[in-house]
Amino acid sequence: MLITDIETIILRLPVVEMIADGTQDGLIVLVHTDEGITGIGEVDASPEVIRAVIDAPASHALSSGLRELLIGQDPMCVRRLWDTMYRGSIFFGRRGPAVMAMSGIDIALWDIVGKVTNRPVHEALGGAYRKKIRAYASTLMPDTPKEAAAEASRWAEAGFRAVKLGWGGFAIACDGGVALMRAIREAVGDKVDILLDIGFNWEPSSAIEYARRLEEYHPFWIEEPFWPDDKTAYAHLADAIDTRVAAGEEETTRWAFRELIDQGHVDVVQPDVSRAGGFTEVQRIAELAAMAGLPCVPHAWSTGILKAATAHMNAAIPNALFMEFCVWKGPLNDELTEPRIWIDGNGDVEIPTGPGLGVTLRDDVVDRYRVHA
Ligand code: MG
Repeated sequence: MLITDIETIILRLPVVEMIADGTQDGLIVLVHTDEGITGIGEVDASPEVIRAVIDAPASHALSSGLRELLIGQDPMCVRRLWDTMYRGSIFFGRRGPAVMAMSGIDIALWDIVGKVTNRPVHEALGGAYRKKIRAYASTLMPDTPKEAAAEASRWAEAGFRAVKLGWGGFAIACDGGVALMRAIREAVGDKVDILLDIGFNWEPSSAIEYARRLEEYHPFWIEEPFWPDDKTAYAHLADAIDTRVAAGEEETTRWAFRELIDQGHVDVVQPDVSRAGGFTEVQRIAELAAMAGLPCVPHAWSTGILKAATAHMNAAIPNALFMEFCVWKGPLNDELTEPRIWIDGNGDVEIPTGPGLGVTLRDDVVDRYRVHA
């Protein structure tokens, strides 16, 4: 079997708001083969930027768009093809958009491997460590304590045993952030874990004091308090407080995660399967984390393609902890794929068992939001 083409489809809602909601557009990656099997992947990044990485013609042996590197290759040789893409894009790549584009292709290649072998992706990756995983509802932080309490309660009542609120309302000073946290804890009680995503909003100089005031209400983790590059600030905070510090959704490749772990001293790593390097690389990142005694909780805030991919990833790594489950309302998050992935009565997500990713695209939804070049 040979790869014959790599197709990208850009989806976009009619109105894009400047909020931290990554489900307002999407890039679907389709890897076609000469045997009629097509793999589905996606990249959660700027779709037109990623498309350019895939479509660009070759400049020379170390600077090529990804399609030219893969046409005529065997799609079953996923790990070797990862190196082919990494090496062939190394002049402009190594991190960022090039690796994100590789991630979407890697997801599609593993979907092909699963479809060819008639096994779910997690089996193709080496087998399931679990059949289901506890999900945390992932949503944006409202602006007021009253709204924050209502948002958290809504997802706790829907059956989630953990809720993460982030960005949005956290763009405020310490007293306001503590008031949001207090209202959420009072609303959901002690049985629901509360995760906080700070969205880069903290000043390193006052972060420890801020975190200690939040700790009174037992946050499960504090995510991304600082710019991803400020590893010193991460280490300073993580060393000082008891609460877990989580980060990693902007990082790409195992080398970046090694720095995050060694220099940032984080307690939880969050590679996004559609950005950090696909299944192939996130499996290696999870291993790196495991060697440091850390859990790996893949970031996921996009369409049902990434939801399925993240469920398989969580099944296939020993040090999984939670599945990030984006509950933000939007058609690309809710409607693009079928069957629908949702929690069971215990707040867990069952890992899909069909061949490959185990989800198919809904053509009507693709047609409705497709951006024609
Ligand atoms: Mg985050």
